[in-house]
Amino acid sequence: MKEDTVKKIFIAGKWKLGGGEPIQSHYPADNSVNAKISTANSDDINEAILAAEHAWRNPKWRDTLPSEKAAILFKVADLLETKKEHLAQLQTRDNGKPISETLGLVSSSIATTRYIASSLETLDSQLTNQRVKSLMTFTTYEPLGVIAAITPWNSPIASEIQKIVPALAGGNAVILKPAEATSLIALELASIFEEAGLPAGLFSVLTGKGSVVGEEVVKHPLVQKISFTGSTSTGRHLAHIAAEKLISTSLELGGKSPTIVFSDANLDIAVNGVIYGIFSSSGQACIAGSRLFIHESIYEKFLQSLIEKTKNIVVGDPEKNDTQMGPLISEAHLDSVNRYVEMARNEGGEIVVGGHRLEGDQYKKGSYYTPTIITGLTNQSQVCQEEIFGPVLVVMPFSDETELLAQTNNSIYGLAAGIWTEDYRKAIDISKRLEAGTIWINTYKKFSIATPFSGHKESGVGKEKGRLSILDYMQTKSIFLNLDQTPNPWCEPK
Ligand code: ADP
Repeated sequence: MKEDTVKKIFIAGKWKLGGGEPIQSHYPADNSVNAKISTANSDDINEAILAAEHAWRNPKWRDTLPSEKAAILFKVADLLETKKEHLAQLQTRDNGKPISETLGLVSSSIATTRYIASSLETLDSQLTNQRVKSLMTFTTYEPLGVIAAITPWNSPIASEIQKIVPALAGGNAVILKPAEATSLIALELASIFEEAGLPAGLFSVLTGKGSVVGEEVVKHPLVQKISFTGSTSTGRHLAHIAAEKLISTSLELGGKSPTIVFSDANLDIAVNGVIYGIFSSSGQACIAGSRLFIHESIYEKFLQSLIEKTKNIVVGDPEKNDTQMGPLISEAHLDSVNRYVEMARNEGGEIVVGGHRLEGDQYKKGSYYTPTIITGLTNQSQVCQEEIFGPVLVVMPFSDETELLAQTNNSIYGLAAGIWTEDYRKAIDISKRLEAGTIWINTYKKFSIATPFSGHKESGVGKEKGRLSILDYMQTKSIFLNLDQTPNPWCEPK
């Protein structure tokens, strides 16, 4: 590999070739190589983290007014907007998501950046409630220090911005370790923060393998928080490291989300919502609605409509505007999805749609899998208990609500759930009893930066988003002020 063909990475405010083994970014639609990217070695990691520590402690940065810091973030948002098409295309090349989806992810990243910048400008310290007449107390918020942001490949720009921006707004420095498959977008973000005028050292991008580069970053003694999105097994491993170091974590992990369709649901709207909930992003979403419970009275009718409409999904070239489902991220991932479908067959499941890789000229070079619907299984089956992270929906009938809730909540995960009914009283009642961090009623997979996002059970620890998400990257300092002039009698002569 010629050195000049390898992309440089952004370490401590400088673009340079990392000392690790280069990695490749592939276009999942034809498995061609997009770019060769250098990776960080131990020296690079140490250099980036020392520079980060120096940068956030620098009095010049610490004394920079919130409005001045916010101005940099507003500039970042403007640059994201100017480069919107390019960023969307880059992400489509990196992970094969259709361009319509990646454009949406860039738009949401722009909105997130502006929202957090506004929140920074308006963030107040607190004058706390007085409990003793002579004491005045107030609480201020201070940075934690160096934050490790570790991100997955499925929605990189959105998950990265959602961590980097509030962490920087909180006065911290950020070391981003992107997923191996999607390093290009992370490097583009580095150039945007640099162009926006963020002081050197406050943001570095350390590419490379999670088990090597990621592991070394989080174990570094100067790293003070791990903000991670990815699988539950890796999240658990990182939580062990954090416990040992006594640092905090924010862990957005896996899911196996149930969707419930009651007999009074508007069937057309519900069918479309269910299809979008599982098959958009080719099911490669932690929040994918992968277990579907349909009331037995409408089961056959709903299933038939689901099957017919699933066949209409446009699967193909992710760079085309009308494509709805692109390829899976890689051949290895396609094999893993296919193994789950085989497992479903062995467990007695019936594949009523799909269940195989896509054949034909258009698909032969890429990792394309059919949208797949499986019936005939129970919620105890392995494919209902494990996260597949692919376009695979298991459909089950239910008759009464008690049995329904026992099934939907029978999962180690608790990320999201969907309810389709015209009866809002029932929807609210069920939503209170579902064990999940996000509940969608008559919609699915909708987000807002204003609304906190968190996983229950093994789907996560901590939260992201929300108006005060900056505070998730800060620590409190409480100051007591004595207003009394009388000396403390404690050591006066008795
Ligand atoms: P996925 O199956 O989506 O790759 P992972 O949880 O393994 O899910 O990966 C999410 C992110 O975590 C990626 O950036 C990956 O490189 C990183 N990662 C994986 N293992 C580790 C580790 N031991 N330490 C730190 N980061 C890791």
